[in-house]
Parts: sequence; C-alpha cells; structure tokens
Amino acid sequence: MPIDLHAHSSASDGTEPAAQVVASAARAGLDVVALTDHDTYAGWTSAVRAAREVGVGLVRGVEISCSYHGVSVHLLAYLVDPESPGLAAELHKARRSRVSRVDRMVERMAADGIPVTVEQVRRLAGEGTTMGRPHIADALVASGYVATRDEAFADVLRNGSRYYVSHYAPDPVTAVRLVRAAGGVPVMAHPFANGRGWTVEDRVVEEMALAGLAGLEARHRDHTQLERLHAEELAARLGLFTTGSSDYHGAGKQNRLGENTTTRDVLEQIEAEATSGVDVVRA
Ligand code: AMP
Ligand code: FE
Ligand code: FE
Ligand code: ZN
Repeated sequence: MPIDLHAHSSASDGTEPAAQVVASAARAGLDVVALTDHDTYAGWTSAVRAAREVGVGLVRGVEISCSYHGVSVHLLAYLVDPESPGLAAELHKARRSRVSRVDRMVERMAADGIPVTVEQVRRLAGEGTTMGRPHIADALVASGYVATRDEAFADVLRNGSRYYVSHYAPDPVTAVRLVRAAGGVPVMAHPFANGRGWTVEDRVVEEMALAGLAGLEARHRDHTQLERLHAEELAARLGLFTTGSSDYHGAGKQNRLGENTTTRDVLEQIEAEATSGVDVVRA
C-alpha cells in the first residue's frame, strides 16, 4: 500500500483544509500520508482527527523554508516535538517575516498598476496561514490578471522578478540540528530540482549529513531523471535513505497524491529514529 510523505493543506499553500487532505489521501488509496505544511504545525490537530475517522495512517511533519546564502533549501521534518522551543521559535520568526514580505511584494506590484491589494491577499490566505507567493497568485487569479497559480509563477512571481522580496529563513545546517533536537527526522526536499531555481552543491548536503540529515527526497516531480539519479547516488555515498513523495497542494498544483512513493522500510526507519514521542497515527 502506497506511502506519500509530502503534502500541503490550507494551513500553508495547499487549497484543502488539513482534514480534507487526509480524506483525499484515503480516497487516493494511500496507506500513509504525511502532512508537511510550510513552516507551521497548524494543521496537525484536525489531521489527526481525520486520520482516525477515515482510516489512513498519518505522519505529522513540517517543511522548513531554509536559505543557504540566498539559495532556497526546503527541509522536511517528520515527527518533531511541536513544543521544542528552538525549532518553534525559528518557524514563528519565518512566518512573521513572510507576512511583511508578502506585503512588500504586493505594494511593489500595486505601485506598477498590477491589480492586487494586501487586504485581498490576506483574506484569500485566511487567518493563521503561513503566507506565501501562492496567496498573491490566488489574488491575481481572482482579479483576472492571470488564469492560474502556474501562470503567476511563470511571470511576476518568479524568483528573479523585480517584485521578488525574500523572507527570513534559517540556514539548513542549523535547521537540521534543530529538527534533531526536537526529536524529529530531517529529510531534504527536492534537493536538486534546478527547474525551481538555484540548488545547493553536494558539499552543503554533506555538511547537512554531518549535522544529522537522515534522507533525500529523490523521487519528486520537479526532478529530472538525472537529478533523481544524482540524489540517489549522493544518498548512497553519504549513508542517507531516499524517499519519494507527491508534494500535493490540492488544486494549487498539478501534483497528485501517491504519484511518487516511499518504501515501508524507510517509514519504519523514520519511526525508529524519532525520539519526540510524536508517533505515526495508525489507521
Ligand atoms: P514562497 O515560499 O512564498 O517563496 O513560495 C514558494 C511556494 O510556491 C512553494 O512552496 C511552492 O509550493 C509554490 N509554488 C512554486 N511554483 C508554483 C507554481 N508554478 N504553481 C503553484 N505553486 C507554486
Ligand atoms: Fe508550497
Ligand atoms: Fe518544497
Ligand atoms: Zn512542499
């Protein structure tokens, strides 16, 4: 039965509430799904309730936005203790910085006559959500400026855009240490997806491995065949496991639940390495 360890809800930039993501996982025939919203644990409670109701396994996780000298790195953290103060403080700082960063991007765009307002973006994102560029995209779709999130990202929201503003993000080696200190298991998301923007060199992954990185998400739709092979070879050399996952965002992206999967023995290893007391919710 398939295991998919990367999915987003409307607690960040997915379009379905966390309980619905879990229900969608059951409907897609998954055995286990991980909820990994950007920089927040906000979806966990309703996801746990839904997992028991619909009978699907649930791994509680988070995808931490990191920055290595300006290069974006995403770190998946499974079964972390949400009360661990070091990691919680970093996530809080990132979420707060994301709010003012979205405001600044929107102000720049509005100044150029692009139809978008801060109020509209906040309303579309909803209360307590980790704000991001996808919510600006939703506002641009609502005002008819673009037809889809994809179109917005190909244009005004792309990394090199004149409207782009960065936000606070911890460095990935520090983040790996914080995840281990929180009893969780760190896995680098889509490590070599160069189509998304710049990616880090192997030596940064080596540094992360020395700090406690457990695995690489090799099988991901944003990897070419060569990028996947690169991840698999590097993982083997560094003694890391590999995962495969969908990076589901509901209607916000093409990614479908279960399109890439992780083996049962890797899930068992994740459970065995976690020391937080946060367990896999069993169906
Ligand atoms: P941010 O973290 O605010 O800089 O925005 C990056 C987020 O936008 C990532 O989490 C992606 O999931 C999402 N994203 C990137 N490209 C696209 C796209 N083409 N369509 C929809 N969402 C995207
Ligand atoms: Fe996302
Ligand atoms: Fe990511
Ligand atoms: Zn993701």
